[in-house]
Amino acid sequence: MQAQWPVWPRGSENGRKVLADTLFSGRWTLSGPWAGRRSNEQEFAAQWAEYNGAAHCVPTANGTSALTIAMEALDVGYGDEVIVPGLTWVASASAVLNLNAVPVLVDIDPATLCIDPAAVESAITPRTKAIVVVHLYCSMADMDAILDIGQRHGIPVIEDSAQAHGARWRGAAAGTLGRIGTFSMQETKLLTAGEGGAAITDDPELFDRMFQLHADGRRQAQQPLAVDQMELVEKSSVMGNNYCLSEFGAGVLIDQLALLEDEHRLREENAQRLTKALDAIPGVSRVQIPDAVTRPTYYHYAVRYDPAAFAGKPLQDVIRALTAELGFPVNRCYPALQAHPLYQPHTKRRYRLGDAHVVAVDPRRFELPNARRAHDEVFTFHHRLLLAGTADIDSVAEAISKVARSAHEIETS
Ligand SMILES: *Cc1c(COP(=O)(O)O)cnc(C)c1O
Repeated sequence: MQAQWPVWPRGSENGRKVLADTLFSGRWTLSGPWAGRRSNEQEFAAQWAEYNGAAHCVPTANGTSALTIAMEALDVGYGDEVIVPGLTWVASASAVLNLNAVPVLVDIDPATLCIDPAAVESAITPRTKAIVVVHLYCSMADMDAILDIGQRHGIPVIEDSAQAHGARWRGAAAGTLGRIGTFSMQETKLLTAGEGGAAITDDPELFDRMFQLHADGRRQAQQPLAVDQMELVEKSSVMGNNYCLSEFGAGVLIDQLALLEDEHRLREENAQRLTKALDAIPGVSRVQIPDAVTRPTYYHYAVRYDPAAFAGKPLQDVIRALTAELGFPVNRCYPALQAHPLYQPHTKRRYRLGDAHVVAVDPRRFELPNARRAHDEVFTFHHRLLLAGTADIDSVAEAISKVARSAHEIETS
């Protein structure tokens, strides 16, 4: 019998109360007038900064806008290059394009699927303005090596931690090792309000800039407010856009954050159980997590497969069989950005900023052999699978084993 897999996202009774409370609070956004109490947005900002051990947090409408204000705060713009891994969700690179800068795609470390520090170093030019690392799948980018490169070349590092809420590198939270860390709270992510995001930093000047960049240039009023007075004041040092999170989204995040540690613990226990079971099956292994990751989190649990153990069947066929066996969607890891169907800079007229720019943003100019190979060798499970009971977790390894044994029967697409 197939398991009844947990649903994601998961509502809570407290979440229902928070939403109703916000609905009748007289305040639905940070940019509205003061309604007699701290906004959900500012409450979530304080809680998310504290959770990560960061000094400051700017909540945003989504993860893409968090990356946007992070790069704009570091003055990324036209003529600049930003180094981005060639294996990531498209937003890590498309946010760079939107600033009229050039994403320089570099290859990954095939063992961890995260950006390869040696590839970062060889991609640096006098135009490199920032390095964006992405903590992907259950792993983390090699922050020791990346921070050292950033320091030696005087280039700031941004950690796109959209898939790594609460992960830790030598005890420090993902997003606190670089100059700025960004998060997505889109529905599939480990902490979510459907849409949402955040940028964290210890630097008060970057915080001041990011705050203005996310609120049309407005800053927060310093003096105590009277009811109906605007909390955001028009005293600006940098032009912004509106990337504010609504009070509803912020309220849901406050509720969900209270549940996050218990969910992390459950996913961690189940991931360890699954990894142990996979160790006993020839031809499959969990993607490597470096020892420096003192606390992994599991957005996508990633498994490397050896076709030889599956009668030489290609990954997409094995995945189809596995999905049918489990009644749970199994996915390939991302295509390399160079070949990603959603990464098509040439289709957007706003990126045609001259012949040299058009050539520079063409992803086909990059060689990303490790990222390309990963798409044929790695399959993933969304983290809601890891919220299941132990018997269902055991059924995952059994299903993989069964598909391997009967692989010669899988039809090739
Ligand atoms: C989800 C995600 C983003 C973008 O976040 P949105 O909230 O969808 O804008 C950026 N980077 C990575 C690695 C992501 O997984």
